[in-house]
Order: sequence, then structure tokens, then C-alpha cells
Amino acid sequence: MNVFKLDDLAAGVRAGNIRALAKAITLVESRNLDHSRAATTLLDELLPDTGNSIRIGISGVPGVGKSTFIETFGRHLTAQGHRLAVLAVDPSSRISGGSILGDKTRMEDLARDPNAFIRPSPAGETLGGVARKTRETMLVCEAAGYDVIIVETVGVGQSEITVASMVDFFLLLQLPGAGDELQGIKKGVMEIADAIVINKAEGDNRPKADLARRQYLNALHILQPRSPDWQVPVLLCSALKGEGIGEVWQTIDGFRATMKKNGHFEKRRSTQSLDWMWSLLMDDLKDLFLRDPRVENLLPTIREAVAQGITTPGAASRRLLEAFKRH
Ligand code: GDP
Repeated sequence: MNVFKLDDLAAGVRAGNIRALAKAITLVESRNLDHSRAATTLLDELLPDTGNSIRIGISGVPGVGKSTFIETFGRHLTAQGHRLAVLAVDPSSRISGGSILGDKTRMEDLARDPNAFIRPSPAGETLGGVARKTRETMLVCEAAGYDVIIVETVGVGQSEITVASMVDFFLLLQLPGAGDELQGIKKGVMEIADAIVINKAEGDNRPKADLARRQYLNALHILQPRSPDWQVPVLLCSALKGEGIGEVWQTIDGFRATMKKNGHFEKRRSTQSLDWMWSLLMDDLKDLFLRDPRVENLLPTIREAVAQGITTPGAASRRLLEAFKRH
């Protein structure tokens, strides 16, 4: 794609043209090297128009009600005049051959809403690869005028941490009354949550939800708060009945106001950008290294030597690095 066409594409994205947006995202997601270069140029061009959204990460185990919640929450937002993009980080397709989040029947009403844009998770071999594409797609959506971006992921493995590292606000959805064990009490995940929302908290579930809420509050109490200005709230809602949804948005909006005032909002974003730069650099370096002809030549022998115990891993790594440096 030449520069002239890229200019057109950038203008189309900025004008909020859905076809241009879809095309730009396809470019970002492409594995073709020429496309990647074009995508980088496009992102550079769009950069001044990015950043004007609130980026919300939403996670929870399968069945907690993520898609129901995002649909109800999303319609609440578009009714208020917001424009919402929903993206997903779902590396599960790589492992299971099927996707946990990719089901096309999800969020049907929201998908029909002209002020909402839903993009399924990009294909990718690694979580890092999927995250990179989602992160760049998020920027394209911002340039297209979406002022709320939701990045959804499943509550398994590393993907929650990855999503938390690209959003302003990380919301953890939980179920009421999960027995004695608090789900998500996995320390790492509690530590990254900016709010915990207990879904399905209607009818008979209400007392269980209240109990779970108290347990979470106790658990949060012993964690070091990430910001002295933010006490992680535990909210109750019913995505199915549309109850408590407005409160969730008020909480996020309140968080944004507080964090903008104390400067943490921008600080968090700039830290995330720097972290992202480093992780891209490390990925690219690794690629460069593994594609180096000298390394490629040497690798099978060295691998064998390490596997056989003839060479130590340390010596092997040094030899590979020496070969790489000999340019
Ligand atoms: P996901 O796998 O996390 O995306 O969960 P879904 O949104 O697909 O919801 C899983 C099931 O829980 C579905 O049968 C939903 O209808 C149901 N569900 C979602 N939210 C609620 C809720 O607030 N209350 C009740 N009772 N059921 C809900």
C-alpha cells in the first residue's frame, strides 16, 4: 500500500468511517511484513488523534456474565451518547483450537448499535502477539472517535495481567457465593483490579452476593492500595436485569476524575507506553536473533549439546550470542 492510499485510510479512520476502520484494523492484524510496515506508518499518522478515551479492561471466568455485562453496560453508555469499541484478548484459540470469547452470537444487540463497534480477538500464536494487535487496534479506534474502549479477556492465566497493562481501569467480574474459596483471590489478580463487580446479584443470590462482597472487602483490606486516592470498591450488579450498571459507570468515571486530578492517569499511561516499548523491543530483538543465519546454523548443534549435557546452558547461550555479535 503506498503512502497516498495510507493518507486516505487515515482520513477515513479519523472521519469515523466504519469501512476505513475495518481496513485499518485488518492492516494492523496482518502478518505480512509490508502490511506491518504500512500499519506502523498509519499508526504514526493517527497518533495525534489517539488517547482520548477511557480504556476499560474487563475480566472474569467463563460463565460469569462478561458478554451479558458488556452488552448491558455498553447500551447504557451508547444511550448516553458515548461511542464504544469492544476488543478482546483471547489467546485460547491457540491452545484449544476453539475460542472462548470468539462466539459470534455474543452481544447481538450491541453489535447492531451504530455507536458500538465490536471486534473479535485477533488470531495469534502468542499472547504477546495478540496483545500487540489489540493494543494497536485500540489506538485506531480512538482515532476513529470511540471514547470508551473495552478490552475483554478471560480470567485464566496471564491474559488478565496483559490486559491490565493496556487499560486505565481494570474491572474484575465475579460470581456471588463461590463457596468458601474466593475466586480471583489469586493475589496477582486482586492486586491489579481497580474495582470488583459481583454479577448475578439478584433475587435469591442477593444474600450470597452481600457475603461475597464483605469477603472481598476484607481481602482487599490487607493489600497495599495502588493509589492513596483510590479504595478498590466492591459493587453488586445484575447484568441480566440491568441493575447496578449505572453505578459501575459512575465508579469508573469517578476514578477517571480523581486520577486525572492527581496526575496518576497520565503517569499510568506513560509507564504503560514505556513498558510496551520495551516488550516490543525484546520481541523484535528475539526475532532478529533467531533469524540470524549464524545463529540458525549453530543452534541445532548447540541445542543438542545442551540436551546431552555436553555443554552448560550458560556456555551455550554465550556462544550463540558471540556468533550473533560477529557481524
Ligand atoms: P461469559 O462467558 O462470561 O461471557 O458469560 P455470559 O455473558 O455468556 O453469561 C453466562 C450465563 O450467565 C448466561 O446464561 C447468562 O444469561 C447468565 N447471566 C449473565 N448475567 C447474569 C445475571 O446478571 N444474572 C443471572 N441470573 N444470569 C446472568
